[in-house]
Amino acid sequence: MSIQPQVSLGVPATPGTAPRPLRVAVVGAGPAGIYTADHLTAGGDDVLVDLLERLPVPFGLLRYGVAPDHVNIKATGRALMQVLSRPAVRLFAHVDVGHDITAEQLRERYDAVVYAMGASIDRRLGIPGEDLPGSVSATSYVAWYNGHPEGALPDLAQAGAVAVIGMGNVALDVARILLRDPEELSPTDVTHDVLARLRASAVTDVHLIGRRGPQFAKFTTKELRELGELSDVAVVLDAGQLPDQPPQGASQATTRNLAVLQAWAAREPSGARRRLHLHFGARPIEILGQDRVNGLRLERTSDDGGPTGQTWVLPVQSVMRSVGYRGSVVDGVPFDDVQFIIPSDRGRVLRDGLASPGEYVAGWIKRGATGVLGTNRSDAKETVTTLREDAPALLSARAQDPGGVAPLLAENGLRYVDLDGWHAVLAAEARQGAPHGRGHVKISDWDALLQAALPDPDPQQETDPAHTQT
Ligand code: NAP
Repeated sequence: MSIQPQVSLGVPATPGTAPRPLRVAVVGAGPAGIYTADHLTAGGDDVLVDLLERLPVPFGLLRYGVAPDHVNIKATGRALMQVLSRPAVRLFAHVDVGHDITAEQLRERYDAVVYAMGASIDRRLGIPGEDLPGSVSATSYVAWYNGHPEGALPDLAQAGAVAVIGMGNVALDVARILLRDPEELSPTDVTHDVLARLRASAVTDVHLIGRRGPQFAKFTTKELRELGELSDVAVVLDAGQLPDQPPQGASQATTRNLAVLQAWAAREPSGARRRLHLHFGARPIEILGQDRVNGLRLERTSDDGGPTGQTWVLPVQSVMRSVGYRGSVVDGVPFDDVQFIIPSDRGRVLRDGLASPGEYVAGWIKRGATGVLGTNRSDAKETVTTLREDAPALLSARAQDPGGVAPLLAENGLRYVDLDGWHAVLAAEARQGAPHGRGHVKISDWDALLQAALPDPDPQQETDPAHTQT
């Protein structure tokens, strides 16, 4: 991870007193939060960062969102681990801000708080039948195959045909994991149960549904290409759905996507065991079924998504909506409930339109669920640059080090998972694979994660001396 060295703050808390480090809490230990900690601490020990995480383990969407077969992206974890290992950074996982401690308590105990808790709620379609058994969010499927302790078990044994709604990268991940030969996932860290259920899956046909033309698809070309490279999977795409030429003014990314789709449409039909069907200009209007999903009614749309009144039914036994994520509100923190983000200006949280001293935001909860993993790095940098501009004023605002959250957690008897606990989880996961001839295999059960992380029933979690200086 390459970070520019930062200039030391070197600002005395009050005239005549020794300089003290800036104490920052970052809420959320996913990529956005850890990149924020990285930018804050790369220059040395003039900033101390406490990372607070609701789940018992860090890494957020890197662990629980990035698909297991995207091994290169998962490898980013090594760089994130280096940040967590810095003396100026402490991990407090299994601490739910807004529940275990309030946002206000946090603001009292830090010079600055950075909200980086992501956007984990799935968007809904708002059409009839959406709550039928067999209709699920991509979020829950992604969580399940990634071993998230709150992932919901999908019913793959009964669904031969699945509709995946949306043309973004998450929809492609979902389609790929539904179609990929499960044996290819055996070397990854998916749980034994996920592997067993994928092996027993009845899915033969996946229908990707886009409500507009292919030139409006949100996926990236690299991810699109992967779908065409799956073994024993045929792509079914009617060339009539594609424009002959990229539309005028089409971006390079769109032009590349259209070239991939054209090549697929020109392929000879093959007798593959599984099929991926692509439907553009198809708007979902109703999920059908009595006790469970047995079809999806679609309306043909014009290229830009306009209605035509022409409908048809796709016989599918499961519908997975993959139409984006949204952030959720934390008590005591401003929230824009139209855009589902914390309102901000260059990373400064806005309260009633004005920058709130000492409050910052980074990642998806700042800009919405857009961009690839690396986007969070530049996003965090913007926030940290702003925070550093404010640092002299933040330090001057308090004569004393506000002390951080550790004493409050101890006072309330709240046990948290620190870096040692996270290492203990990773070690337990490394041991899980061997009896099955596999490598590192995730622990997905919440209690089992805690047991691995906090084996002692009542440990005294010490405060790191680096963080007790005043
Ligand atoms: P996304 O990129 O915003 O795509 C959402 C898709 O849902 C769009 O095709 C959108 O169509 C469609 N949609 C929205 N509302 C709909 C409705 N009511 N009915 C039918 N379709 C609807 O979201 P995402 O796929 O969840 O991805 C989130 C972010 O994570 C993206 O930035 C993505 O690139 C990133 N990501 C990256 C990777 C990777 O790098 N490998 C993997 C996963 C995710 P319209 O365009 O018509 O609105």
